[in-house]
Amino acid sequence: MARVLDALAEQEAAWQARFPDFNSPEVASRLQRTVERVQKYRLVCALLGWPPRGDVTPKEILPVVAASDAQDFEQAYQRVETLFFSRFDTEGVLRLFACWERNPWLQARLPILRQVVEAHTGGLYYLTVPAILPQLEGLLADAFGHQGRLHEKDLLGYLERLFDGTEELAFDDAVRAFYATTVLGKFTHGTPLPRALSRHAVLHGADTEYGTLAYSLKALLLFDLVQDRFGVASYAGGRCYHLPTCPVFQRERRTRRADRLVIHWLAELARKDGKRPCKRCLPE
Ligand SMILES: [Zn+2]
Repeated sequence: MARVLDALAEQEAAWQARFPDFNSPEVASRLQRTVERVQKYRLVCALLGWPPRGDVTPKEILPVVAASDAQDFEQAYQRVETLFFSRFDTEGVLRLFACWERNPWLQARLPILRQVVEAHTGGLYYLTVPAILPQLEGLLADAFGHQGRLHEKDLLGYLERLFDGTEELAFDDAVRAFYATTVLGKFTHGTPLPRALSRHAVLHGADTEYGTLAYSLKALLLFDLVQDRFGVASYAGGRCYHLPTCPVFQRERRTRRADRLVIHWLAELARKDGKRPCKRCLPE
């Protein structure tokens, strides 16, 4: 994020030099409209049951927001689905997996994730959803050093520590809303099934129609969003930040309180918090 802000500030200075009107009310109001559209797009995605993604262009956002403004949610859903299906075709999903392979927090889960991706690209969608949802929960529990039974409030608490609002334009809010209302949405046997990616309806065996490309992709994209937040780690009060595989960090894990653990999305953010890179694991 810090990198993004620096780049934006630089860009803004360059534009100001080139276009003296850059600060005019007209430009300001157009920028404001774009920002509002991005925020709306992210929340619309979450409401329509798709994990919101940051990597879309304003041009791609426009038809989704227009349909939602016209209260045509069927159309908005179609637009979002088309966008995600084309962005995350087989090649797109393999690109996601290449990022997972590089993430040290996921090393123990890679054999499972590899088969999830093979099943997804092979169209075996009934196999992907129940395999990847527990990986998301396991990742949160492991990384935050959870002890004992894992309740929904624990999962939401860990997610809040990862998506704490540092990312602007409603992104963090949209991800948390998606997880809380869609994935963990209330479900009991004998009541109508939710028409969305419901962790409980799938894993408790009630939903028998979840084996679709859309469900499978939603589950993969949610996992991707969450794993992406696992950068480096430090402890409140500690001086260094580490990779999760570092022996020094592993030692700290045994002696420090789990609620003092901070997972930094980017090493820059850890440095902004006054931490320095560990000399043993050399993060970044
Ligand atoms: Zn270290």
